[in-house]
Amino acid sequence: MTSRALVLFSGGQDSTVALAWALARFDSVETVGFDYGQRHRVELACRDTIRDRLPAVAPELSKRLGPDHMLDLAALGAISDTALTRDSEIAFTDAGLPTTFVPGRNLIFLTFAAALAYRRHARHIVLGVCETDYSGYPDCRDDTIKAMQVALGLGLDRRLVLHTPLMWRDKAQTFALARALGGQPLLDLVVEDSHSCYLGDRTKRHDWGYGCGTCPACELRARGYAAYLYSPDDSGPSHDS
Ligand code: ZN
Repeated sequence: MTSRALVLFSGGQDSTVALAWALARFDSVETVGFDYGQRHRVELACRDTIRDRLPAVAPELSKRLGPDHMLDLAALGAISDTALTRDSEIAFTDAGLPTTFVPGRNLIFLTFAAALAYRRHARHIVLGVCETDYSGYPDCRDDTIKAMQVALGLGLDRRLVLHTPLMWRDKAQTFALARALGGQPLLDLVVEDSHSCYLGDRTKRHDWGYGCGTCPACELRARGYAAYLYSPDDSGPSHDS
């Protein structure tokens, strides 16, 4: 039986590597993206670039790449008052959460992805969330995703499997995984064309890619790339790779 997967693909570093991971494992892989009025909307353009360049960069992997789906979630932006959806400062709240936290974002994404997966007959949903060096977002936690798998499976009365290949990898290991999956060309694609910067800055090129260089997402990516260069082996967990 053909295994079909749907990847939550934002155009960021993590979801790009998650997409490559899915392409290495499933017969047919579709992607879904969400437009919720995010400040770093430039990442939506990066999605197209990455999908367009994949056949040249990773011909074997890209043979399994199916259609892309773009969903308009303007309502999420409308009800969120965060630094990701408003022109406000990126800082930490009293609760210890960054102001970039969009409450319920991954829960909503997963619910829409599951509805789409149902229609597309995809049993597997892949997302690049990570608990290792995440920014404190509670909807990135392993327990959250496992609970969503149960809830969605019950609510749709169909078995859905949620895969989180990066859950226990740090950013350095994510770079290493990209290289393990598609060699230097895939790693170069991740560096050059995936987007992390919360401010949507693609005017400054660093060795780790484009970004303002100072927002939390840029700092995480820069630190991860430096650590990757220091120790470039994919030493991520073997149980889910
Ligand atoms: Zn930045």
